[in-house]
Amino acid sequence: MHEQVANRRYDFIHQATANLADKSHATTFAVEDLNIKGMVKNHKLSRAIQDAGWGMFLTTLEYKCRWNGKNLIRIGRFEPSSKLCNDCKYKMESIPLSVRE
Ligand SMILES: [Zn+2]
Repeated sequence: MHEQVANRRYDFIHQATANLADKSHATTFAVEDLNIKGMVKNHKLSRAIQDAGWGMFLTTLEYKCRWNGKNLIRIGRFEPSSKLCNDCKYKMESIPLSVRE
């Protein structure tokens, strides 16, 4: 059962990262440098984070970007990336997690 779940996760990560690093026309990706090890210590989030395989996702995206000559930029985890308007750069001072994308 665990093996099946792991295989499904691995397959999803490979497809999702291939769609980004190989098949998309984007040449640069920016990812937040999330403190995954720290977040896993939060018991409410731990299972969901580990199930999603974030660490493996980033490692895979990184090597596929390298293969395809694309840029992967890590931005600081305290950058207000979800609070900034990507058009006019207006920054919301507070925004609940539930409405962030
Ligand atoms: Zn705006």
